[in-house]
Amino acid sequence: MMDGALSSAPGAGRFGQAKNSEQPSPIAAEADVAIVGGGAVGAALALCLARQGLTSVICDPVPLEASMAMDFDGRAYAVALATRRMLRKLGVWEAIIPNAQPIEDILVSDGRVGERAAPLFLHFDRRELGPDGFGHMVEDHIIRAALLNKVAHTPGVIHLHGKAVVASRRDPYCATAILDNGALVKARLLVGCDGRGSRIAVEAGIDRAGWRYDQVGLVCAVRHEKPHRGVAHELFLPSGPFAILPLTGERCSLVWTERAEMAESLRNASDEVYLGEIRRRFGDFLGPLTLAGKRWAYPLNLTVAQSFVASRLALAGDSARGIHPIAGQGMNYGMRDAAALAEVVGRAARLGEDIGAPTVLERYEQWRRPDSVMIATATDGLNRLFSNDFEPLRWARRIGLAAFGNMGPLRRTAMRFAAGDRSDLPSLMRG
Ligand SMILES: Cc1cc2nc3c(=O)[nH]c(=O)nc-3n(C[C@H](O)[C@H](O)[C@H](O)COP(=O)(O)OP(=O)(O)OC[C@H]3O[C@@H](n4cnc5c(N)ncnc54)[C@H](O)[C@@H]3O)c2cc1C
Repeated sequence: MMDGALSSAPGAGRFGQAKNSEQPSPIAAEADVAIVGGGAVGAALALCLARQGLTSVICDPVPLEASMAMDFDGRAYAVALATRRMLRKLGVWEAIIPNAQPIEDILVSDGRVGERAAPLFLHFDRRELGPDGFGHMVEDHIIRAALLNKVAHTPGVIHLHGKAVVASRRDPYCATAILDNGALVKARLLVGCDGRGSRIAVEAGIDRAGWRYDQVGLVCAVRHEKPHRGVAHELFLPSGPFAILPLTGERCSLVWTERAEMAESLRNASDEVYLGEIRRRFGDFLGPLTLAGKRWAYPLNLTVAQSFVASRLALAGDSARGIHPIAGQGMNYGMRDAAALAEVVGRAARLGEDIGAPTVLERYEQWRRPDSVMIATATDGLNRLFSNDFEPLRWARRIGLAAFGNMGPLRRTAMRFAAGDRSDLPSLMRG
């Protein structure tokens, strides 16, 4: 792997130097695909492309040491079964598994702050899904480090870390990413994996649909005395869902959705006050609690790109679609984008097609955008249904979900959906 320095990828020289310039900009790297953003989705995309025999360059402003930092920071994701299969096929899961906590049960209930939760109205039991289960809880830094470590040892992938993309050009034959030091990265296809505020999408003139929620996701981890036994809890409070997600050891990750105004005062509160507010929601069923790591706050919004592709450009991960964390699906959907895009362009390359051609990229758009609109609508609807204190609605949702919980086939369908096990999966995610 190149150490953030200017370097050439395999196949350098195919696109030549920029013309009509007195001092041509240096070419940092050339490859089949230039990936803007080396988060989980960008790194996974590079590995998927390498399996298809395609070279790639990842550009990210964060220095490698910072991306690989192994400090526990409290952020964690529910890695669905389909994503786990993909990570295993990419040779990454083995490095993750010692720190992955299987989710054994998901218990869903409804309540108010300081009150006992209402009787349980939904129970998802992993044994109903067979040995594969739903998925695992994994800390963000574990996934990130495992992916980047694999990237470092994968031929055909260059990681230009500590390098932001400040602009891009796309012409009929080539896409060019311009780095903050003026150097160029040239490729046949540019992929924006640069997160929710995607600069690449804005620059390409791609409009977005969506809105801000008056909610903030407060995230931290807690240590507790009693074992959690792999049980995840989703408690619906009037301000939004409060999720208690089991991690390895006697620890849980909390994803606490709070009204923006309240979240702002909690952000500024001392650890003691913060912990006190957690206890009022969490209760004492796991014994005494202490904070384990930093506290994080993420303003929540919904944002879906009107198109996932443009000339020689594709979007993947949060740059394509950023959703509410209520169902823990954002990263899982981003991984599905990465696997699908690599499959589409890999097949096109084998057929001798231009991987940046509109007809090729259209296949990716048709595969991933409708699914993304569906999950964006579903998470938005769930958030509206559950984040309120309107008494008749509370009763209606309790009755509705209790009935749903008693319908075995429907419940199992929902569980398979959460595990990401469906018929339209890219081959890397299939069993
Ligand atoms: C509170 C909360 C809880 C969540 N829980 C879950 C969960 O349980 N399960 C789940 O599946 N998902 C979850 N998600 C969603 C998940 O965090 C995201 O979907 C996922 O991190 C998106 O990854 P990404 O690589 O697309 O984007 P990001 O992680 O945002 O990465 C973008 C990368 O692009 C780089 N970048 C930005 N600008 C540039 C530029 N100009 N040039 C080069 N690089 C650039 C950045 O440095 C960064 O590395 C949660 C989200 C929140 C907020």
